[in-house]
Amino acid sequence: MEIADSKFIKNINRAIILEEIIKNEPVSRSDLAKITGLNKVTISSQISDLLDEKLLIEKKSENSPGTSGGKKPILLFLNKKCAYSLGLELKKDSISSVLTNLNGEITQKEAFSVKKTSPEFIADKIEEIFKYYTKSIKNSKFGIIGLSVGVHGKIDKNNIIIECNNLKWKNINLKKMLQKKFPDLNINIKNNNYFSVLAEKSFYDIPNDPFIFLNMSAGIGMGIVIDNNILLGVNGLSGEAGHVSIELNGRKCYCGRRGCWETYACENAFFKDLKELKKKNISYDKFSKMLDNNEIDEEITALLADYENYIYSGLLSIINIFDPKLILIYNRILNIYPALVKNLKKKIYKYNKIEASIELSELKEDSCCLGACISNILGFLNINFLKLKK
Ligand SMILES: [Zn+2]
Repeated sequence: MEIADSKFIKNINRAIILEEIIKNEPVSRSDLAKITGLNKVTISSQISDLLDEKLLIEKKSENSPGTSGGKKPILLFLNKKCAYSLGLELKKDSISSVLTNLNGEITQKEAFSVKKTSPEFIADKIEEIFKYYTKSIKNSKFGIIGLSVGVHGKIDKNNIIIECNNLKWKNINLKKMLQKKFPDLNINIKNNNYFSVLAEKSFYDIPNDPFIFLNMSAGIGMGIVIDNNILLGVNGLSGEAGHVSIELNGRKCYCGRRGCWETYACENAFFKDLKELKKKNISYDKFSKMLDNNEIDEEITALLADYENYIYSGLLSIINIFDPKLILIYNRILNIYPALVKNLKKKIYKYNKIEASIELSELKEDSCCLGACISNILGFLNINFLKLKK
């Protein structure tokens, strides 16, 4: 029991030290002792192990040690090129991919178009992508340490894809198919918003407060962080905010119900309404130019006002339920039309008498793949948090 306890504590200390090195690098051993509150003997012994494992590198500081005199301190860095992590996002007709080093810094990213959507075809394509990235990294001690795939749909806790509407999949065990191709690789399949909120949490570092990520692009999905943990739900199905009805007899949704929030308030819903209004397809780029050139007529202004109300009705429910510290939104219309965010904040203040903290995601379309990469790194290093650098 005593040995098990000491191993347990050793692992906790190791995780704390690694997390702080990633967050604060470069750091000296004495900096680490101050930051973590661990004693110098523990720090020295842990660092020695991590150096042996080639997870850290040390370099003599270029700067003088300051007024206290003495030797130049030796600084510690994560050996970020010793391992790489691959994150994918399965979209309707493409697979987005991001490769990061061990620090979570993006080293490569690419989108691969896919012609078929059968699980076998997608699994083969993923194998091809994995091999492509393996070739691109050289002299890395551990190579690619994990493959995580974000899927738009319901994924249970055993990584089974219960339903994925954009690929028309039901009950698919993609993990098993991939594991056959790569028996020793750490493979993880989760909902895209789980990975997105993991990346945003790593980027914003908001400890202990409710924090919500809303992906309002093709549909609406939500990532929820409470007490620093991502809420998955008993079945791994939490965060389906897009299917909360805002209109009982409203628009028909693919889920079988009516009036779902995403049929009104996601980015695609707006462009669908715009197409109907103007009887022609107006792309995001075209709409962005129209805004720049003040070519927004009364009809479109009215449409934007409706869109604002649609977003508001769902957003207010989320604020009333979670009272979050921050709501991060990924929606490109809000990016190009900041008046919407301003008006939403005003309306929420009028109703709730609170200043809602609403920000637009800086990670944008990379968040899912990046979160997938981070998930692999957390598992490989056995840590709970990886601070992404801004
Ligand atoms: Zn629905």
